[in-house]
Amino acid sequence: MIVIPASREMQALALEHMRSGRRIGLVPTMGFLHEGHISLVRIAKEHSDLVVLTSFVNPTQFGPQEDFSRYPRDNERDDALCRQAGVDIVFRPSPHDIYGRDHSVYVDETSLSSGLCGRFRPGHFRGVVTIVAKLFNITMPHAAVFGRKDAQQARVIEQMARDLNFPVKIVVAPIVRESDGLAMSSRNAYLSPSERIRAAGIYASLLLVERLYADGVTETAVLVERLRSEIVSRAQPDEIQYVEAVDYGTLKPVDTVKDATLIAVAVKIGQTRLIDNILLLAGT
Ligand code: AMP
Repeated sequence: MIVIPASREMQALALEHMRSGRRIGLVPTMGFLHEGHISLVRIAKEHSDLVVLTSFVNPTQFGPQEDFSRYPRDNERDDALCRQAGVDIVFRPSPHDIYGRDHSVYVDETSLSSGLCGRFRPGHFRGVVTIVAKLFNITMPHAAVFGRKDAQQARVIEQMARDLNFPVKIVVAPIVRESDGLAMSSRNAYLSPSERIRAAGIYASLLLVERLYADGVTETAVLVERLRSEIVSRAQPDEIQYVEAVDYGTLKPVDTVKDATLIAVAVKIGQTRLIDNILLLAGT
């Protein structure tokens, strides 16, 4: 495994691999890796001949009041995990390498990114779409893997790849959870022991809604209201940003569960913002 710190070098190597007919599988991350990230590496391997994992805490996707400067980092541990998982290349550029002083071009998605997290994190998806477009150009992947943990992000990237004609297969991977159901996230490291226990209440509440749906409740107002009250009592969040039922394709609210309906939540437990979701499929 090699670690590459410069985009020029990364792009030259990617070109070389591409010309030799080797398919690159890309796993974009912000580092501080956990089993969720490693599951994406395994999936990337199924779609490629070599895996590039990018580790970059992207400043442009953080708001001014957000946690950019204190986002957890541990490069040595990340490299050991990558080596173990069979990553071929870790691309870990500096912010300066990615955004030159006179950087002035951004990529904006104008529909899917407006609701859900977009309402609470203005500019976030512009930062995400811009960095992913740049990473596609730098690493020239055949396939890129994203987690459904960040379902809105995955949909926005799918749309970007389609609308901007990136020749990349976008693969969306299932959510990996801790044993008590909490979705794995680098930000879970912020939680105090008592907050960590409350955080498990988010998924417990989502599971309850999944059961209600299995029992025949399809009206999303009922499901969302129940979910909200379960989250309040089980997770005791300090803030509920949203609890919504949206169509997985358009990310627009739906009245009843049809096709694929995403039940998505964003809450704050203490200072830590956590998101999670389940996908309800009609006819199942
Ligand atoms: P991050 O480092 O948090 O920006 O995440 C990098 C990638 O890993 C994104 O595509 C995330 O959706 C994905 N990811 C993060 N947590 C999980 C998880 N618990 N299960 C599956 N994928 C995840």
